[in-house]
Amino acid sequence: MTSPHPSKTKIVHDYQTTFVFCRQGQHRWPHPNTWNWRVTLGFRRKPLEYRLNLVCETCGTMAIDKIDAHTGEKTRSYRWPDGYRIPSDADVSRTDLRLEMLHRISGEAEVIEPEQKKAAGQ
Ligand SMILES: [Zn+2]
Repeated sequence: MTSPHPSKTKIVHDYQTTFVFCRQGQHRWPHPNTWNWRVTLGFRRKPLEYRLNLVCETCGTMAIDKIDAHTGEKTRSYRWPDGYRIPSDADVSRTDLRLEMLHRISGEAEVIEPEQKKAAGQ
């Protein structure tokens, strides 16, 4: 049986760099000063639910937070930009993307030379 997806290597290689970085858990959400809260009112205009949509400034992923006005319980869901999602059966792990990140930054990283062994008596 053939996979319905390109190979894992091709998926990782072709994946957008912004997505590679954001997939490491580094979404860049706007500063709280800029957040636009919305509140849903219920009976007698009492707040039922507060809602906040945050858009990652790097990749465009949207996080949708809903907070129950009474319990404070928060739920978060996401909407992803085109090309962000990787099919779960494509077998691409976080580690695969971390290694791809290292591959892409390898020419930019500061070089730290191996420590010299301390000479005896110094
Ligand atoms: Zn992002």
